[in-house]
Amino acid sequence: MSKPPQVTRDVFEEALKHLDDAMEYAGLHPEALERLKHPNAVIQVSIPVRMDSGETKVFTGYRVQHDVTRGPGKGGIRFHPEVDLSEVKALAFWMTCKCAVMNLPYGGAKGGVTVNPKELSRMELERLSRGFIGRIADFIGPDKDVPAPDVYTTPMIMGWMMDEYSKLKGARTPAVITGKPIPLGGSLGRNAATGRGAYHCIKEHELHRGWNPQEVRVAIQGFGNAGQHVAELLDADGYNIVAVSDSQGGIYRKEGFHIPSLIKVKNDSRQLQAVYCDGALCEKVDADQISNEELLELEVDILIPAALGDVITMENADKIRAATIVEVANGPMTNEADKLLTQKGVYIIPDILANAGGVTVSYFEWVQNRAGFYWSEEEVYEKLEKRMHDAFQSVYNLSQEHDVDMRTGAYTLALKRIGEALTAQGTREFFNHNGG
Ligand code: GLU
Repeated sequence: MSKPPQVTRDVFEEALKHLDDAMEYAGLHPEALERLKHPNAVIQVSIPVRMDSGETKVFTGYRVQHDVTRGPGKGGIRFHPEVDLSEVKALAFWMTCKCAVMNLPYGGAKGGVTVNPKELSRMELERLSRGFIGRIADFIGPDKDVPAPDVYTTPMIMGWMMDEYSKLKGARTPAVITGKPIPLGGSLGRNAATGRGAYHCIKEHELHRGWNPQEVRVAIQGFGNAGQHVAELLDADGYNIVAVSDSQGGIYRKEGFHIPSLIKVKNDSRQLQAVYCDGALCEKVDADQISNEELLELEVDILIPAALGDVITMENADKIRAATIVEVANGPMTNEADKLLTQKGVYIIPDILANAGGVTVSYFEWVQNRAGFYWSEEEVYEKLEKRMHDAFQSVYNLSQEHDVDMRTGAYTLALKRIGEALTAQGTREFFNHNGG
């Protein structure tokens, strides 16, 4: 079978370009910038897995620790067939910036295994998850690097990983990983946190726009954990969710969808289109089938890419008609597309702010694990809302102050905080000073 053509674009190098725009406003020392261009550590492992057929298959996994100046590395692990090193490096870099935007005492890290988890049995998935942790166990830990869920990794997988780490270290260590199931030390509210964080950003933005939710049309690309939770909260507020899609395709309905039933059918049948075309509700719900590409190009007020990276590129950027884009996915648009849309006046709430609710409640989970004292869901949500409000306002204020877009505002805030930590250890000026 012939391999798909190699993608030559280096996602990490592209991601670093965001620093250039923010550099001048953040007053970042050139030495600090140089540090951020090089991840602290890049770990590549091979994970042999005994498949149900009896054969052994070897999978490749990565863990990148981008920068740990502000605290231990933090960031998810994704299982996806397209995981590659450059992407994991970019994702780790974004985590450094995201944790700084949220003012969490963490650096940034990310992991990934190149695998299509949908092709694995549950037992193979457990063996792969444990095998990966076995390989990286010496590099992670509550004070070193704390993984979490990401694309196609679930609370149950986090539970297996925590258990494997605890066995290897001979000590139960819940704080080594976040996003665990509640009975295994997870935090209430973590599962809904990414969607909820994005929802709070939209509410902040609503105030600036003077929107009436009933009149706001929303399209959501990606109906996994984050997409579903943001949809649910917006729907409950009266927003009109007119289109959603998953990896199989999308559905559109001018009058909007009843989100709770849509979530139920999607999670029971695992497919959105199936619901309306092949499923029992076929005749009852009237929805048009659309492709993922068509969804992105709909004329809506808010477009929420909540799936994978690079879905908005120079191929489709000029066809995007949304007024606001809320980046729930990490890196959903290329730099060129970002520039073009910003020039066109599209308001973009960037990933390192819009999807930061997940890592924020991960932080709460880690704090609770270390204290051995657990909070109510209400407490978690209250603290999350405050953090999101503060971060949004700080980014917004910087964007107003320097007359720049929200992404540049977010990177400016991140670089200010990371820069302060890096330069607190001394720079050339300090060491060249001979006075004593
Ligand atoms: N994978 C999520 C992200 O990209 C969550 C990371 C975490 O909770 O550490 O932000």
